[in-house]
Amino acid sequence: MRIWAIANQKGGVGKTTSSLCLARCMADLDHRVLLIDLDPHGSLTRAFGVPTEPPPKGTYDLFNGDSVESVATTTSHACIDLLAAQPAMATLERRSATQPGLGLALLRALQGAAGRYDYALLDCPPTLGLLLVNALAACDRLIVPTQTDPLALHGLEGMLRTAAMVERSRSRPLVRQILPTLFDRRTRSCLETLEHLRTYPGVGVCPSPIPMDTRLRDAAALATHRHLGGRGVSAYRDALQWLLETAPAEQEAA
Ligand code: ADP
Ligand code: MG
Repeated sequence: MRIWAIANQKGGVGKTTSSLCLARCMADLDHRVLLIDLDPHGSLTRAFGVPTEPPPKGTYDLFNGDSVESVATTTSHACIDLLAAQPAMATLERRSATQPGLGLALLRALQGAAGRYDYALLDCPPTLGLLLVNALAACDRLIVPTQTDPLALHGLEGMLRTAAMVERSRSRPLVRQILPTLFDRRTRSCLETLEHLRTYPGVGVCPSPIPMDTRLRDAAALATHRHLGGRGVSAYRDALQWLLETAPAEQEAA
């Protein structure tokens, strides 16, 4: 199982939309996907219409030693399972102060589910805390959705600094790739930002930026509609193709 973290220390850049669309495109290729909602806000979980009362089983339970198998939710897509966000995830920071080893809980849980899925996609929270650190410790690859707006670059730079810090405590390299999002080719600042993204050393930039597309605004439709269309989804399909073709270090690690 390959583990991809979809993360940026800024909100509203397309992390959840990218996690969802990449998972749907992977499922169309018959890959078995585990989508993990690591954001306590639970946007991904809501998109799939998971009832919140009583709170669902899901991501938090992994931090109590439960197996992925016992807490994953099936979805209307045969190839996609979901680990739902749970309100108790907000208490993890406090627990981590007294419970050493909590930073590797996700990695351990995913190791136990290795044969069940081809890919795990981690929809990360925008805050640097235990959940994001777990994602960076567990993943083979970090995909940073980055809004093509100069004001969004500080989120990317913060994320790359955090990735470099976590990589030093890992035994394997962390592949980093930028996925430009909310791209409008008619806007000069979008084009200039896209150019600028290509200047970060050691970081691949996806050649298929994801355009602004109102059809990507409805997360519930992206999660549940049988067939997806439009130029946004089509760009995600191209982006996935590029992602699947890159990252030799990840293949060596597997
Ligand atoms: P994050 O998870 O990083 O906070 P989201 O994926 O929730 O970001 O996206 C933030 C908002 O932007 C959402 O309302 C989403 O529907 C919208 N959005 C994301 N990508 C696009 C896009 N390519 N075109 C139009 N709207 C988008
Ligand atoms: Mg989100």
